[in-house]
Amino acid sequence: MEIFYCMAKISIIGSGFSGLASSCFMAKAGHQVSVLEKNMDIGGRARVYSAEGFTFDMGPSWYWMPDIFENFFAQFGHSASDYYELKQLDPGFQVIFGKNDVMEIPASLDELFEVFENIEKGSASALRKFLKEAEFKYNVGMKDLVYKPAFSWMEYANMNVIKGMLKANIFSSVSSHVRSYFKDERLIALMEFPVLFLGAMANKIPALYTMMNYSAIVQGTWYPMGGMCQIVNGMKELAGSLGVEFHTGVQVDRIEVSGGLVTGLETSMGQIATEGLIASADYHHVEQQLLEEKYRNYEASYWDKKTFAPSCLIYYAGISKKLKKLQHHNLFFDADFKKHAEDIYTVPQWPDRPLFYACCPSKTDDSVAPEGMENLFILVPIATGLIDTPEMREHYFDGIIKRMESFCGETFAAEVIYKRTYCVSDFMEDYNACKGNAYGLANTLSQTAVLKPTLRNNKIKNMFYTGQLTVPGPGVPPALISGQVAAAELNKYLLKLSHETPV
Ligand SMILES: Cc1cc2nc3c(=O)[nH]c(=O)nc-3n(C[C@H](O)[C@H](O)[C@H](O)COP(=O)(O)OP(=O)(O)OC[C@H]3O[C@@H](n4cnc5c(N)ncnc54)[C@H](O)[C@@H]3O)c2cc1C
Repeated sequence: MEIFYCMAKISIIGSGFSGLASSCFMAKAGHQVSVLEKNMDIGGRARVYSAEGFTFDMGPSWYWMPDIFENFFAQFGHSASDYYELKQLDPGFQVIFGKNDVMEIPASLDELFEVFENIEKGSASALRKFLKEAEFKYNVGMKDLVYKPAFSWMEYANMNVIKGMLKANIFSSVSSHVRSYFKDERLIALMEFPVLFLGAMANKIPALYTMMNYSAIVQGTWYPMGGMCQIVNGMKELAGSLGVEFHTGVQVDRIEVSGGLVTGLETSMGQIATEGLIASADYHHVEQQLLEEKYRNYEASYWDKKTFAPSCLIYYAGISKKLKKLQHHNLFFDADFKKHAEDIYTVPQWPDRPLFYACCPSKTDDSVAPEGMENLFILVPIATGLIDTPEMREHYFDGIIKRMESFCGETFAAEVIYKRTYCVSDFMEDYNACKGNAYGLANTLSQTAVLKPTLRNNKIKNMFYTGQLTVPGPGVPPALISGQVAAAELNKYLLKLSHETPV
């Protein structure tokens, strides 16, 4: 990135990972950067809170793609270890198909090959081949494709990459790709699971994204001691050292535009003059609520046609005893996934018997729960836009705890000493999330790269979007990349302007 000799006043709306990343890059380029965040805490969907001795990460809990985090910090002369201690989980996670039908995913690849072979003869060598292809996709995808602003398909016109990608069969679906390697339904469920992070069923996600399997299985599952909030703390510290100013509890209400440029922001702390803007709050909110209609890239109807990644019903619970059979990450796949998926994507409705995910970080980290207790984060994926009443939120809890008790072989409903729920309406209220989405837009083929909401405002030269609703997509590593790419584009514009402006 070029060092900008003429300092501009840059505003960033939102302090999630994409906003934090872009703030660091803009400050590094020499600008005066202010981050404006409506909530009292920074981190966006990755905020943290404490209650009754428990510390809960509110959003992300899986640390995959460690190289992307390293790459981010390295660009500022740092390493992730300057800010937090990473621990590799072993097993990385467990998938619970039934009380006595559990698959633990070991950190060691050799051990995993054995697990596969014991389930399906010949599947170990199939896995080797699958992972080799996934590694190729990861190397091309995460080291090259995702760092492009995706303004035009020409950016991807590198023949070697194209040839390799076609060979890797990227346009078939993850589902058919996985099924061409494995027959056992449990292995299929395991191999399809990572793309659920991308917000759609495996039959709707292009096989390019089996690169996620490479990260999940080969790079491994990691945990920053102290919680995912340590990444946010680290990025905030880095940003602070670069001169970024944070204003929390400040809602941006309107973006002021004059002569095709953002000139200021109307906020709850008054008017702020601005020479460049990166909007990391949800794209839909920024366009529909903060910009005058004539400056929007998309009409309201555009968003109705988009496939959103799911929302979720979350329980943050404190348990006053240890639960022996739980691992750090537990996927309860002990229900009909097809039916649950239909309730999310086909006919959006509250599911009957949903799959769910239970994270128990106190298995790894004593600091997140009082001694002898467990910190539980339970997530049920649900359709966006559902009406979530207090009754609905309560409705699922008992059933989920019963299924967990059955698996654990011990009761603990009476030991739930703390509980908070979080659902669709909270996502809307806290993050201005369209339809209460949790993870932004799904990475379907028709919503990939150039087909995603564009990173730049086509009518305002000094305004760019970043975050999980634009490129490259949902997830913490993509949000970091998105922030970097948006900052590079705004810098390019400012640099061009500085060359054109007589001193
Ligand atoms: C429950 C949950 C679990 C997840 N699990 C994982 C996981 O395990 N691993 C993973 O990699 N990813 C996970 N994700 C996805 C990941 O957390 C997100 O993709 C990423 O954090 C999004 O970052 P962002 O910067 O795009 O948006 P956000 O984090 O939403 O940041 C946007 C910010 O803008 C602020 N804002 C909105 N409107 C305004 C306004 N008008 N004025 C000022 N500020 C405003 C919001 O308050 C928010 O802080 C999870 C997400 C959720 C919700």
